[in-house]
Amino acid sequence: MQLDTAFDLFRHAHRQGRLAHAYLISGPVRGAVGELAIRVLQLLFCRAAKAPCGMCDICRQVRERTWADAFWLKPELKSRRIGTEAMREKLLAEIAQTSLAGGWKAGIVVGADRMGVEAANVFLKTLEEPPPQTLFLLLTDAPQLLLPTIVSRCQRLEIDEPLTLEEPWRARLLDVLTPATPPGPLPAMVTAARLVDVLANMKDAAEAEVKQEIKAESGLLDEDSDIIDARISARYRELRTDLLRGLLAWYRDLLLLRAGCAPEQARHREQLPLLRERAARLTLAQAMANVDGVEDLSRQLERSLPEEAVLAYWLDRLVSGVPAPTARATG
Ligand SMILES: [Zn+2]
Repeated sequence: MQLDTAFDLFRHAHRQGRLAHAYLISGPVRGAVGELAIRVLQLLFCRAAKAPCGMCDICRQVRERTWADAFWLKPELKSRRIGTEAMREKLLAEIAQTSLAGGWKAGIVVGADRMGVEAANVFLKTLEEPPPQTLFLLLTDAPQLLLPTIVSRCQRLEIDEPLTLEEPWRARLLDVLTPATPPGPLPAMVTAARLVDVLANMKDAAEAEVKQEIKAESGLLDEDSDIIDARISARYRELRTDLLRGLLAWYRDLLLLRAGCAPEQARHREQLPLLRERAARLTLAQAMANVDGVEDLSRQLERSLPEEAVLAYWLDRLVSGVPAPTARATG
């Protein structure tokens, strides 16, 4: 279902005092799923007459993840796992305390599929007997990797986020992803160069688009050039974000298929035969590592690190799922 539909369900349940203790929300964690979680928390904590207002101090703190009664737990950066200690200290101990604002408390597990068995079992005990006025949100790209005992204690919601990557960029992305390239540094560099090429074209397209807009608005191009540059770079970042989401969706599709998920959930559905073939050549660990790699890539690009270097480094880490005599598991 779409983000807005899911949010309406929460709003309705909240109004009727029928929120469940725990929800398992699956879909793009860095996209619509993360956004839904923020809005649900704002609904819970905002004190405006028409909550969530999205503008008050509480709503802002919730969005910045600094609100004192919402506890976020996410995988450790290096291991990519949610360990037992973190589960106990950062989530369960906090949830057991009285709410600071005297109302609801919320625990959000980002990447819930990354809980180890022990951490999951520790969590399960609280999930079985949650303190009153507590809401758990478990967010995941890969719900089929969670323990069934956890899943059975949650209400499930699946959020579908259509790919927003427009043509010709979608076709350009597939041109980069679909050719068979054996693993290794050299093909990785070629692929990185192709992606850099697509990004360069995106920059040009953003510039042309913004200049045309400005022309239509004012008939002239004598506006402050700093403002024009800022608009161009904002538009470019939008396009690049869509491209990265398309890229992430590709590797997420491989992971879903590898984990035996229903193929209707794939985003690049028109590429199913190829995706299936490649997924079959990956181990589950490799497929997960690839998704991690693309998420790292997005984070690094957001920090404005040099695109070319980031891409080359990242592609070198990917396992392509294409047979080659030198192919070895690195995940
Ligand atoms: Zn508010």
